[in-house]
Amino acid sequence: MKRPDEPAACDHCGALVFPDMKKCAQCGRFPVKLHRCPKCHTIAGKEETVCPRCGRMFEPGGDYL
Ligand SMILES: [Zn+2]
Ligand SMILES: [Zn+2]
Repeated sequence: MKRPDEPAACDHCGALVFPDMKKCAQCGRFPVKLHRCPKCHTIAGKEETVCPRCGRMFEPGGDYL
């Protein structure tokens, strides 16, 4: 069971990031991979394959924040 304040690895580059960090210090991206729909700009989890709002397919491994 992980504590919420424990550091985790950046989804993009693997650098250590803390839960309150909005940007990875190493790669400068939001450390958790989230899809952003290019059409309606809805944010969805990386496990989603289509936009929950407009139904557009996310690029596999792409369309991340
Ligand atoms: Zn990173
Ligand atoms: Zn959408």
